[in-house]
Amino acid sequence: MSTNDVREVIVIGGACAGFTAALYAARANMRPLVIEGVNWGGQLMITSDVENYPGYPEGILGPEMMQDFRRQAERFGAEFVSDDATKVDFSERPFRVWVGDDEYRAETVIIATGANARQLGLASEKRLQGRGVSYCAVCDAAFFKDSEIVVAGGGDSAMEEATFLAKFADKVSVVHRRDVFRASQIMVDRAESNDKVHFVLDSVVEDVLGDERVTGVTVRNLKTDERTDLKADGFFVAIGHDPNTALFRGQIDMDDAGYIVTKGKSTETNVPGVFAAGDVQDHVYRQAITAAGSGSMAALDAERWLAAKRGRLQDALAAPRTG
Ligand code: NAP
Repeated sequence: MSTNDVREVIVIGGACAGFTAALYAARANMRPLVIEGVNWGGQLMITSDVENYPGYPEGILGPEMMQDFRRQAERFGAEFVSDDATKVDFSERPFRVWVGDDEYRAETVIIATGANARQLGLASEKRLQGRGVSYCAVCDAAFFKDSEIVVAGGGDSAMEEATFLAKFADKVSVVHRRDVFRASQIMVDRAESNDKVHFVLDSVVEDVLGDERVTGVTVRNLKTDERTDLKADGFFVAIGHDPNTALFRGQIDMDDAGYIVTKGKSTETNVPGVFAAGDVQDHVYRQAITAAGSGSMAALDAERWLAAKRGRLQDALAAPRTG
């Protein structure tokens, strides 16, 4: 693959949004190059069953679904670099993207680098991911009917997830490291007024218990140092997300939390020709289906932007010369 080519589009990021953008761009003959990252597949790689993606009535494993997304884009000619983008320059055209010493150039760029759910960083948490440890209540709550669940966190996400999980589970215990919540009062009130939701304050989850599946967690009280084992069938970590935007700092507009700002209902960023799709620009919905949807929008936006630019160029070339 020549790195000297100027591509019509480079997609940075290989998961729901990036692969869908690549599929649409490839089918529009835009020859997309996807710099998909070493660990392509995104958050679905730490998910087991996906039951809420339309088209899979029996459900599908997250990693398998990502293979399918990738294969579908490849079928229509998308090309992939299975490495991380290390530098970008959007200050000049064509835009430039580096992977180590290799430089790639393109007329448009679609950023789809996603966001990562923050993890506690426990070895047992990692080992039991997809086997009772989850980072998304909307995705996984239905697997926990009539069960006991522990949620870690004290922000709006933790309150929202606890309240949602209580629709399925018998008991939900929210473990928070302080005795004051970061969450808004209305969200706290809603969780507190739910009989199934209990609070364990000034405490952290120190270990996730279970061999094949989660059976409980060990909680340590930070004031007394006392350790208690709580029975749990599921452990939901709701301590926030981090958008993967460090690479773009100073090049593109972001909000205070580091999410890329897109204009209105489009995927346009403040740099004409650079588009953003998926969780990197969405901290509200964060679903595979919404990420895929915005990936398709980004490819359509890029295609139309290029057509408009070329139309202007042709108009300029066709215009009578003056002077
Ligand atoms: P957040 O506001 O950053 O809260 C993260 C929570 O996790 C905090 O309570 C924090 O504790 C705790 N935490 C962080 N790292 C931890 C660790 N290593 N161990 C234990 N606890 C840890 O994140 P969020 O709740 O995901 O919310 C993100 C944004 O989305 C916020 O602006 C929020 O308002 C918004 N949101 C809104 C809604 C809604 O309105 N429906 C729903 C969800 C999210 P400390 O408090 O001690 O720092």
